[in-house]
Amino acid sequence: MTEQTPDSPEPQDRPAAPPAPAQQQNQQRRPQQQRPQQQRGNQPQWPDLSVVIPLYNEEESLKELHQQLRWALGRMNLRYELLFIDDGSTDRSFQVLRDLKRTDKHIKIIRFRRNYGKSAALSVGFEKAQGNIVVTLDADLQDDPAEIPSLKKRLDDGFDLVSGWKKKRRDPISKTLPSRFFNFVTARLTGIRIHDFNCGLKAYRREVVKSVKLYGELHRYVPVLAHWEGFRIGEMVVQHRPRKFGKSKFGMGRFWRGFLDLLTALFTTRYLRRPLHLFGFWGLAAVCAGLAIDGWLAIEWYLGLTSLSNRPLFLGGILLIIVGIQFISIGLLGEIISKTRAVETEYQVREFIK
Ligand code: UDP
Ligand code: MG
Repeated sequence: MTEQTPDSPEPQDRPAAPPAPAQQQNQQRRPQQQRPQQQRGNQPQWPDLSVVIPLYNEEESLKELHQQLRWALGRMNLRYELLFIDDGSTDRSFQVLRDLKRTDKHIKIIRFRRNYGKSAALSVGFEKAQGNIVVTLDADLQDDPAEIPSLKKRLDDGFDLVSGWKKKRRDPISKTLPSRFFNFVTARLTGIRIHDFNCGLKAYRREVVKSVKLYGELHRYVPVLAHWEGFRIGEMVVQHRPRKFGKSKFGMGRFWRGFLDLLTALFTTRYLRRPLHLFGFWGLAAVCAGLAIDGWLAIEWYLGLTSLSNRPLFLGGILLIIVGIQFISIGLLGEIISKTRAVETEYQVREFIK
């Protein structure tokens, strides 16, 4: 990742470390949770609020988005920063941002060398954000910056993460229907009572963004990861607008990837420390079912009631036993990995009163 100021040369002109994959950056992030010592004079310079905006080829929207952000945040009377993360855009997005930065000191730009995906952009944005409150927002003008004050109020009600709920969603039905299904399943499986997990507009307390580890395409499940770390999750209905320029960056592939990511989100939270409870349960169930079936057939065979050569169920029983043993073995291997990693375990301590 390369930090740019309006005056700095293009990244290809100067040596810069290649961007690390999101996983590596996440591993490096934990120790940096504490802020470095305060700079410049006695007055604190940290912003109260950081807006993190991931963007990929959104050149037409950026100017208008910036105007709306300025208008909304200007009325809030607090220190803020606008963190644009250019996720390897191939259009003029970066140039537009650089021009905007000349007119507004609140703007900071992070530019990836290539397109890493929204999760990577958010992850780096979370790492760099300095505000006590961090708001994320899509760059395509579908989210309304005017919602930011209400999101902040909702945080003040005692939540650590407030997720927007696009109750009236302005997207084609090919997107809204599967998304409803996903949200329903995710809410059921995780026990988090919100309606819209993947809304781009969200507000977080600083602690949340500094502890949630995002990689792959897990941005859809930030509330799941945060909930698992013990943070309080709230929801607020927000306006949603149709996409004005450009087109959605996620095609139909989002659905099956979203489903696999749900498995990852569940597995790396609920079962991360006890893989055998998941695999072992199904493994044992399969072995028991297989033994019961084959045992029954063996008795019938012994009594001369059946011939095993014409009972496909016999093979089914054998398959269940083998698959079951494999499941148990995978669970045990998982336990071994989990045990060797246990030293790295971090628990979320909310307060430490001495
Ligand atoms: N985005 C990104 N990197 C990507 C894909 C998307 O930073 O690889 C940004 C995109 O520019 C937008 C936000 O993520 O600001 C949401 O993307 P999009 O509007 O395409 O998603 P949708 O609204 O269709 O869910
Ligand atoms: Mg969009």
